[in-house]
Amino acid sequence: MSAEFDLIRSLQRAARPDSRTPLGIGDDAAVLNLAGRPVVCCDLIAEGTHFPAETPPDLVGRKALAVNLSDCAAMAATPTAAFVGLLVDRRRGFAYAEAIMGGLTELAEQFDVTLAGGDTATHDGPTSVCVTVVGTCEREVRRTGARPGDALLVTGSLGGSLPSGRHLTFPPRVAEAQALVAAANLHAMIDLSDGLLADCGRLCEASGVSAELTAEAIPVAEGAAGLRAALTDGEDFELLFAVAETDAVRLLADPPVDCGLTRVGRIGAGAGVTVRDATGEPLSFRTAGYEHQFAS
Ligand SMILES: [Mg+2]
Repeated sequence: MSAEFDLIRSLQRAARPDSRTPLGIGDDAAVLNLAGRPVVCCDLIAEGTHFPAETPPDLVGRKALAVNLSDCAAMAATPTAAFVGLLVDRRRGFAYAEAIMGGLTELAEQFDVTLAGGDTATHDGPTSVCVTVVGTCEREVRRTGARPGDALLVTGSLGGSLPSGRHLTFPPRVAEAQALVAAANLHAMIDLSDGLLADCGRLCEASGVSAELTAEAIPVAEGAAGLRAALTDGEDFELLFAVAETDAVRLLADPPVDCGLTRVGRIGAGAGVTVRDATGEPLSFRTAGYEHQFAS
């Protein structure tokens, strides 16, 4: 019996069928019963690029699922099932692969997500984990709906995720996104994977608007290297969203989330993101949005 089948068998035991996943691991494909509009996302993390080689494998597995749950949250979707493609460095051994899946399934249980299928393989090279998550929503929140005059709000605090290790342990804001959509009409939303400045730029570009961020309002995470880190560090996995001013006032007066909610700026006409200091002077930052490059 190969290690691959051992792994699948142990996962199959952990992932029992339920009403939303009448057929999970063990057949040629899974069958899902989705109540709502299906939302699908896929994200891959690779050793050396998204996590250092010495990262504990359970945290590798956790992160591979968590980044997808964060994308689900950013659409205001509730995740239902996860599919995992695992390519493991064979020199690491079976226990390493098992530990990756252990970290992943633990987070899946916390978020009531069924591990419904996937594939595993080994090779002589770095480990990578590719996770697809299927969820549902009543009405998705896209990046495209921000309007001039909207307020920009962010959950949690920003910066220093990589040095603090929070990029491995962050809580995906799934429940928070649900609480926010229940409380207000969110015009546009994105999760912060590449830093506030870069991701705010993406939201603005998608919506065809501009944004002004207020430097002194940005919630800087404990241990983050100041405002610059809060604006440009990646992997915060907090939510940035645009709402009408009246909704912003209401949300801030009685926040439906307990992770913190801060108004960081406002949407305007035009294009681009400007950060202003307390006196209204524009500050300049190099956007740190990380783009993966191909060798030419
Ligand atoms: Mg995203």
